[in-house]
Amino acid sequence: MKSISQALLASLILLFTFCGQRESFDVVVVGGGPAGIGAALAAAESGAKTALIERDSRIGGTTVQARVCDIGLFYAWRQQIIAGPAWEMVKEAVAQGGGSLPDFSRQEYDKWMESCVTVNPRVYSRVAEETLRKAGVELFLNEEITSIKRTKAGWKLAKLHCRELVDATGNASVAALAGAERVKTPDNERQPGSFFFWLSSKGLEFDTNQVIANWNEAIEKGEVLPTDVHVGIAWFIRKGGGSGCYIPLADNSTPEARAETNRRGIEARDRVLAFVRKQKGLENVVVSSCASEVGVRETYRVVGEKTISEKDYLDGIVPEDALSWSYWMVDEHKAGASARLLFHEEGKVGAVPLGAMLPKGVGNMLVAGRAVSSDHGANSALRVQASCMGMGQAAGVVAALAAAQGCDPREVPLEEVREKLKKIGHTVPVND
Ligand SMILES: Cc1cc2nc3c(=O)[nH]c(=O)nc-3n(C[C@H](O)[C@H](O)[C@H](O)COP(=O)(O)OP(=O)(O)OC[C@H]3O[C@@H](n4cnc5c(N)ncnc54)[C@H](O)[C@@H]3O)c2cc1C
Repeated sequence: MKSISQALLASLILLFTFCGQRESFDVVVVGGGPAGIGAALAAAESGAKTALIERDSRIGGTTVQARVCDIGLFYAWRQQIIAGPAWEMVKEAVAQGGGSLPDFSRQEYDKWMESCVTVNPRVYSRVAEETLRKAGVELFLNEEITSIKRTKAGWKLAKLHCRELVDATGNASVAALAGAERVKTPDNERQPGSFFFWLSSKGLEFDTNQVIANWNEAIEKGEVLPTDVHVGIAWFIRKGGGSGCYIPLADNSTPEARAETNRRGIEARDRVLAFVRKQKGLENVVVSSCASEVGVRETYRVVGEKTISEKDYLDGIVPEDALSWSYWMVDEHKAGASARLLFHEEGKVGAVPLGAMLPKGVGNMLVAGRAVSSDHGANSALRVQASCMGMGQAAGVVAALAAAQGCDPREVPLEEVREKLKKIGHTVPVND
């Protein structure tokens, strides 16, 4: 009897020891969107033992969850500005999805959408996951980080220990948990989100003028909101939906805000569908496809050692600690008004300095992607996916070197960072 209970006790101790054990990594990346993919691939390729934690069941972030499948921009002025492991992964996803790359040698200044790389989100997510695993990145899916702890050697989060953290959550959520300051554009200026859904209305006959008149009447009666379809209802129906539904004040920075935003997205979609089905000739229209989440353009940005301004971004200023390029116009969406668009002059390209990825006052951490330290205008441009991949790669390499050298990311010699970045195929900004 005694020996049975002793054996039971020993197994319980073993079980608790095993369960309580935290795995240790050089670099942990939180968030599996464009920035997180770039960061984890670059850290792993630079020799760091790397993990990536993602709250969703799939890798991909906004690209996959919100079906934002046109990835911009790897090229500027017909030259490649974002290359390296994330670019290789995107090319593989395009090939496996049976798609093709744009002809970048014909890239035109004002036709930026034609230079975006279109991916199939399901294929993209699978290829991204395979690429990360092949690179040696350990993936933790369905895990949302809501608390972190400082340790002597770095950080403790979920069941992991790490030396360096890369926050690629899009909201600087992890940086905030570490005490970093964040800023949020006031409600009346913040960009709306968009909910992508498709209708089986393509090719159906209907009376355009009547539908437009009915839509305006439905707005007056409060049956639909003007933002439910902001691109012209007849056009939206004719193209079978897709983008065109704004969700003002969309926010996914907390579980509660995310749930509320997605609820409002579904309500907007259902209002539009109910309206469409009341129109002559469109009675049998159904929702043929729908994103799983509302796409969120803007929430929090971290306050970094440096902040990228709209002016510097458009002027193509290349700071001495610039580590990645970024090219897109200032593209500020507004619910109820047309977007504010500002373009670079010929030959100019924005740059992301290391200082904008370093949360002020917080060590052993970098923030990459949409939440990088930038003003509202610059952020509306550099949030695009290829730019996020580029800064992710830069953050991943800095984190890997800091972990290897046992120092803070601020102390890693920039020349070593640039050398390592070149080795993984990243295009490093030059000031000429
Ligand atoms: C409607 C819309 C249209 C757009 N159009 C374009 C376009 O045409 N071309 C283009 O290139 N870009 C476009 N963008 C911009 C682009 O999609 C995003 O800015 C970009 O995806 C941001 O990348 P990210 O990696 O910083 O963040 P995200 O893509 O948001 O990824 C962040 C990831 O972190 C995860 N996460 C968040 N918090 C936690 C946590 N606490 N724990 C664990 N995981 C967490 C999320 O689930 C997510 O997977 C558009 C964006 C929107 C919303």
